[in-house]
Amino acid sequence: MASVKLNHIYKVYPNGVKAVNDFSMDIADKEFIVFVGPSGCGKSTTLRMIAGLEEITAGELRIGDMVVNDMEPKDRDIAMVFQNYALYPHMTVYENMAFGLKLRKMPKDQIDARVKEAARILGITEYLDRKPKAMSGGQRQRVALGRAIVREPKVFLLDEPLSNLDAKLRTAMRSEISKLHHKLQTTFIYVTHDQVEAMTMGTRIVVMKDGFVQQIDSPRNLYRFPGNKFVAGFIGTPQMNFFDGKLLKHGDKVAVTLDNTDVKLDAPASYFNKANSAYLDGSKPVVIGLRAEHISVDPKQYPFKAKCRVSHTEELGTDCQVYADFNIASEETVAESPTRVIVKAPAGSYYNVDEIIEVSLDLAHIHVFDAETENTIAPRIPQEVACDCTVANDTLSLLGNEIALPEAIKVQNGKYVVTIPTTAINLKGKIEAEVVEEEDVNGQRLVHLKVGDAILFAIADAEAKVGKKAKIGIDLKQIRLEKDGEVVVNPLAYDNALTGKLAKRKIVVEKEVKGKMKKVNDLAFSLEIAGASFECSRALALRLVNGGGQDVFNKDLEFRFTPYQVAIGEEGIAATVEKVVNYGAESFAVCKLGEKTVNVSVPDGFAETEVKLSLNADELAIIEVTRSIRLA
Ligand code: ADP
Repeated sequence: MASVKLNHIYKVYPNGVKAVNDFSMDIADKEFIVFVGPSGCGKSTTLRMIAGLEEITAGELRIGDMVVNDMEPKDRDIAMVFQNYALYPHMTVYENMAFGLKLRKMPKDQIDARVKEAARILGITEYLDRKPKAMSGGQRQRVALGRAIVREPKVFLLDEPLSNLDAKLRTAMRSEISKLHHKLQTTFIYVTHDQVEAMTMGTRIVVMKDGFVQQIDSPRNLYRFPGNKFVAGFIGTPQMNFFDGKLLKHGDKVAVTLDNTDVKLDAPASYFNKANSAYLDGSKPVVIGLRAEHISVDPKQYPFKAKCRVSHTEELGTDCQVYADFNIASEETVAESPTRVIVKAPAGSYYNVDEIIEVSLDLAHIHVFDAETENTIAPRIPQEVACDCTVANDTLSLLGNEIALPEAIKVQNGKYVVTIPTTAINLKGKIEAEVVEEEDVNGQRLVHLKVGDAILFAIADAEAKVGKKAKIGIDLKQIRLEKDGEVVVNPLAYDNALTGKLAKRKIVVEKEVKGKMKKVNDLAFSLEIAGASFECSRALALRLVNGGGQDVFNKDLEFRFTPYQVAIGEEGIAATVEKVVNYGAESFAVCKLGEKTVNVSVPDGFAETEVKLSLNADELAIIEVTRSIRLA
């Protein structure tokens, strides 16, 4: 039993293929994790890196408490089951299962006990004397599982173990593997390209595409809250319907229009509470998603009605899929028409080709994505909310509350739009609010706070409960102020970035050699950033060389740090203080080095003009610029 922790893991193959990018995830003990995605998305590579069969380019992998990047596969306490069972044809089932343990020189009676127990769990006791060729595909796959079970590993890795089996057997083995997980109470990591397998087996699923993790969540949450259009389309059958369209907020309604159709529906604005308001002005193109099961052929089922032209139906026995088009004017029914819609209808539904029918839509389940980035416009934890406000004499009036503006935010009197990130809202302030909803978003408690007519969001502890009053505080360094569409105040930039290099130099150290102190040659490492040199530990240098290769010393590196990870010191990077911005409780020095700006947290009353910026190499995020790989 063990947890598995992937921390900024990358894989770049020698031919330059970047198979896995910045994969980070904590897998708890006993979880059943499924990696799913189309062929070539990096699932197997990730699994093979966990197994130790593939070198990790950059990042840190832990099994239990141990960093295992450089540990041999056999020492990792994992067992892997492959698609091709790779059984030894000349050995019996018993011998196949016992083989690995024999190699490890386990006593015979112990091997016997383990093989028999595994055979019992898998229901193959009666086949122990058979050779693999006298067994069916499903039975052979069980033997392959048995060979993994007898090892009693901390982590089971399974790479498409069922894809050689026919559909019926696959379904049967699916539930057997789930049961096996339950019996063994061990961590399972399972790779498949089949979303049904992923949905039915995983406690959590990692959806991958093109080497990037798209979303990590439970099957139910992936279905309900897809974070982007790819996940929305990948999970669920038939595939979610997608339409190009626009959203326009007017009063307490949002008009949803689908391009190239007559469909225009007024939904309650409350359905869009979490939506980024920039998408609600009727001009930004969006992709609207609605699943077949959220559209009904009964026009009375939901209050939102639309007409469509039927092209054909598919009877599935349990239900019937109606293929239609919202563009009723078009005589041509094109399968890939952007206005095509699939509707789930009761079994036995019948419609004529080209019949125009009225359907109703469950807009409470609408999904909306940015037309370009394809990310949802309404993340489960909203990034920010925007509100109208006014400023008069350095006081911000917001939702009926007055907030004194700090020195850092000085603007003319007038009307503004203030954008407040969710991270900027705390419950330790003075603005009166009521908690109207609470939800668990992957372990974080999100509360919906009603202030006047507006809904704000905050991450809160268990004290904030529905129906209770709360007092909101706003971290003003995170807000943005806009006047007539122009940004007049930006949030304090949090991500400082400077470029530089890793350097090595020869040094002579005194070392004990055969009982005598001797002077020996050695290497010392440093980070050379903007004319200053910072000591780099051997461990960090090794990490940079491991990820970046021997020529990492010639490569451009980017060093990222927050205003709290840089200090004004005696030595370091020379910079000029352009100004000190004061947010009341906190002050920051805005430091210039040529074109570059670095924000530094400074004590109240700070007044220096020429400074040295000091950094701690171990605290920096270090990115190899050309290949865009995070090395540390
Ligand atoms: P999946 O398991 O999701 O189908 P893989 O992890 O096998 O995907 O592959 C991810 C990407 O890495 C693909 O583009 C594949 O072509 C590439 N790749 C896999 N193995 C190698 C290799 N040994 N050398 C170079 N490229 C590889």
